[in-house]
Amino acid sequence: MVEAAVDDMSTIVSLCKRRGFIFPSSEIYGGLGSTWDYGPLGVELKRNVKDAWWRAVVRDRDDMVGQDSAILMHPQTWVASGHVEGFSDPLIECRECHHRFRADHVDSKTCPDCGAVDRFTAPRQFNLMFKTFLGPVEDEAAVVYLRPETAQGMFVNFQNVQTSARMKVPFGIAQVGKSFRNEITPGNFTFRTREFEQMEIEYFVRPDQGFEYLEIWKNERMRWYTDYGINPERLKLREHDSDELAHYAKATFDIEYLFPIGWSELEGIAYRGDFDLSQHEKHSGKSMSYFDTERDERFIPHVVEPSGGVDRALLAFLVDAFTEEEVRGEKRTVLKLHKDLAPYKIAVLPLSKNEKLIPKAREVHDLIRHRWMTEYDDTQSIGRRYRRQDEIGTPLCVTVDFETVEEDNAVTIRDRDSMEQVRVSIPDLVAALDERLGG
Ligand code: ATP
Repeated sequence: MVEAAVDDMSTIVSLCKRRGFIFPSSEIYGGLGSTWDYGPLGVELKRNVKDAWWRAVVRDRDDMVGQDSAILMHPQTWVASGHVEGFSDPLIECRECHHRFRADHVDSKTCPDCGAVDRFTAPRQFNLMFKTFLGPVEDEAAVVYLRPETAQGMFVNFQNVQTSARMKVPFGIAQVGKSFRNEITPGNFTFRTREFEQMEIEYFVRPDQGFEYLEIWKNERMRWYTDYGINPERLKLREHDSDELAHYAKATFDIEYLFPIGWSELEGIAYRGDFDLSQHEKHSGKSMSYFDTERDERFIPHVVEPSGGVDRALLAFLVDAFTEEEVRGEKRTVLKLHKDLAPYKIAVLPLSKNEKLIPKAREVHDLIRHRWMTEYDDTQSIGRRYRRQDEIGTPLCVTVDFETVEEDNAVTIRDRDSMEQVRVSIPDLVAALDERLGG
């Protein structure tokens, strides 16, 4: 049976803190429940995850365009989408310890925190949207919400995007951005937080093409995770049962990953029919239909929505890349991240902190730093520096030694995974790195 790449999430949490991937937010004040800050390495990894997604779903395709809509939207948006009425989770409270839980996350009558039996209140619906006020007057008329998904920004812009970019159905819009949900039980590191980032696609099709494109997107999205290094055995598609389906959804599949907490959702792919565009047409009074000139037909497009989380994808890539192995009797920790995702692509390391080597190493670093995200490091012993770079997933180290300055004007390229070292002359270095890294 397949096992999670890491048994315990705390291994990843501590690596992230120690090396500067992810810190607890406002930690000096004791942190703020389940909010996290991405540090110097985390911000690079996160950008690389988003770039890899954007390349796959926008840059490499003729039928997709991007957009970036505001977090605050007209409040009617959320009435039309159903979020004001129905975006809620069933909340129960333990009468003994007063801790609150999502009813569907507790599977017995026993309180998971204090052990009291049969002391839960009846479930009540708790709306997950964060409310705030627009402008200086804090009254009902000024209420706006922090968006709980980026999706609605694409539905309300359907006509703007379609006409300005001259798109023909089938086509899609992609967007990456922050979303907010006042989750009842956040936790498991960045898996469930109240502020998170989503990567969403709304793909508009003819009404008779919905199931066909649902299949296409299921395959595309599964492939993206494996292309970027996730072990396919730790990835599966799970179809929602009919009682789990939103009332308007025609079918939904979750892409699940085997996290240290068990199989959990990475991304949802839903065939939503024409629900969203029809609702916005009804509530705004503006047409959301599309005229197909080839078929001489007007219709409201149907939508297939692949909706993933940046933070969850990043966490899955980190967990899956985490490797502990023994090399020549020594233990090493390596993050075997895909080269496109690795925060630093190359580390430039003078063999020692020697006044002959440092200027040469700096010169080598200057030669490549504009092209790739790199780090220059001349602290500690070379062995410790290699171990640090392995642990943060840097695919290549370039080492400058005495031969470089005294004899051959060449450097050593060390590969993270095979640990092989090859000698390359400095004039050929960029081409040699290019061959290994591309991009
Ligand atoms: P869940 O069942 O885990 O609450 P969901 O089905 O409500 O998730 P969707 O509304 O389908 O999630 O959101 C799409 C994606 O956004 C999810 O697959 C996930 O990757 C991400 N996401 C949703 N909620 C959160 C959260 N609280 N923290 C981090 N990522 C989230």
